Amino acid sequence: MISQFTPDSALNAIAAPRVGSPRTSPVRDAAFNAALAVVAAALPKGAQAAITAVGEVHTLADALWAEVRATPAFALGTGRAACGKGCGWCCHQRVGATAAEVLYVADELRKRPDAEALTARLDAWPTGRACAFLVEGACAIYEIRPLKCRGLYQMDARWCMTTYAKLDIPLFGPPPSHEYQIPPKDVFDGAVFGMALPFYRAGRDCPGVDFIPALKAVIHRPDAVQTWWRGEKVFPAETRLHDWFPPMNQPPQSTK
Ligand code: SF4
Ligand code: SF4
Repeated sequence: MISQFTPDSALNAIAAPRVGSPRTSPVRDAAFNAALAVVAAALPKGAQAAITAVGEVHTLADALWAEVRATPAFALGTGRAACGKGCGWCCHQRVGATAAEVLYVADELRKRPDAEALTARLDAWPTGRACAFLVEGACAIYEIRPLKCRGLYQMDARWCMTTYAKLDIPLFGPPPSHEYQIPPKDVFDGAVFGMALPFYRAGRDCPGVDFIPALKAVIHRPDAVQTWWRGEKVFPAETRLHDWFPPMNQPPQSTK
């Protein structure tokens, strides 16, 4: 089965007004255009250059978010996020990533000094549980984590605890608040679409996939990038997320 992701659907998702908010998003457009330019420039150089470009997209999206975060409008007008090291309730949900991003993470993970331990965690991961890389509430692959892991800005971790980790609502204090900030999501979602679109236009199969199962499928295959580049199948059909591209204009309830 082929991905439902098309250039038109991607662009429609970028342009579609959000439910309850007709505003456009300049930061989303900026991230989209920057990511698209980086990947489009790398694609003619071949498979490895294209996958390496995913890391450049991570870096530029992080930089754009840092810029947005430092603006007076955001810094003065926004409360502090509850997010931080040791708070990993959001890592109990399914994580989406593009196929190219999974290939990039696999390549980077194999180079790390702790590759053996991390791969063992991945191999032992029981389906449906918290992310294989959540270690004592922190991300063990923080620098190379997917874009979709980077855009969360929740104001009340108890909401994440009850929604993502399915724990009981606390018996004390006010009800958990779903308040969150959209700019980081705009930045990183824009980067996801901008990164994926040139692959698609170049005829490369770059669907949204379920991050951990897809990574498990390629982590022991150093040939995965070249195999994928030749158009051969490297990701099992069940790892594809047919509901992931698009829409981006639905409430972010169940998927990072
Ligand atoms: S999104 Fe929620 S669970 Fe994740 S780090 Fe932020 S507050 Fe914690
Ligand atoms: S990759 Fe890291 S940030 Fe993303 S879900 Fe896994 S532990 Fe959490």
